[in-house]
Amino acid sequence: MLLNLLSDYLSTGYHNENRQPEFGDSLEQIAGEIRACNGCELHANRTNAAPGEGYPAPLVMVIGEGPGQEEDAQGRPFVGKAGQLLDKMLASIGLSRNENAFIANVVKCRPPNNRDPLPEETAACAQFLKRQILLLRPKFILIAGRVAAQSLLKTTESIGKIRGKFYDFKIDTFSIPLLVTYHPAALLRDESYKRPAWEDLKLLRAKLDESGGK
Ligand code: URA
Repeated sequence: MLLNLLSDYLSTGYHNENRQPEFGDSLEQIAGEIRACNGCELHANRTNAAPGEGYPAPLVMVIGEGPGQEEDAQGRPFVGKAGQLLDKMLASIGLSRNENAFIANVVKCRPPNNRDPLPEETAACAQFLKRQILLLRPKFILIAGRVAAQSLLKTTESIGKIRGKFYDFKIDTFSIPLLVTYHPAALLRDESYKRPAWEDLKLLRAKLDESGGK
């Protein structure tokens, strides 16, 4: 466990005092397992898995759906056009993957032609996301898009119904406030989503301010 903490510290330059890893888990350990995983069919076509990246003691953990073409090529989450917009959206409320946010996806390997991940693919990846959340202990979770929202909230409600309000996301003995917003790719396809997405971001910023988060 000490070695894992040390490896996180060395790879990130940051020590998360609140972290209480179970079974000596670490972000690096999880990333290594993800890169070697063949737990579902998505592994067969990946160039690179995209385990997730960002600040290891985040105010906000952003969770999207799964890697697209660019993410598969680079092995990093949200680095294509939608990712660039996500970075701008986060920056508009003082968040960045370098300073105070961590970015990950429900599935870590690219679904063919960017189709929705299948339930068995999401299920095979769930332990990785759970371990990441437990290690990171974000103060807030921001969900980008319908697929991730439905999967984490275990609902079939439309994104229009579930976005824009906070939920208590229960994980083990913790409860993390979780907000759903539109996926940046949806904003790129349809400008009318920009205003409600901005309202969601302002809501998150207000909660961060209330909680003393910088
Ligand atoms: N869309 C996602 O949901 N995640 C990514 O990493 C990229 C695009």
